[in-house]
Amino acid sequence: MYDGCCDEKLSLLFEFQNATKLYSARVSAMAEATAGIIPSAEFARLSDIASQAHKNCLEARTHLFKHVEEHGC
Ligand SMILES: [Zn+2]
Repeated sequence: MYDGCCDEKLSLLFEFQNATKLYSARVSAMAEATAGIIPSAEFARLSDIASQAHKNCLEARTHLFKHVEEHGC
């Protein structure tokens, strides 16, 4: 997987890893906020941010898989 023969794949992989990290950071932030008592509007905001991060994560994953499929790399 890390054969280094395809720069585009590496950059897609990097993007996916970043999106995953960001998503997990958002989820932890939401979990921490939930542990305290926060207003429901604030919780909704954090929840939106987390679901957007999740969406980005899935998109990055799709891009990566699509590239591998099309490129055969
Ligand atoms: Zn490729």
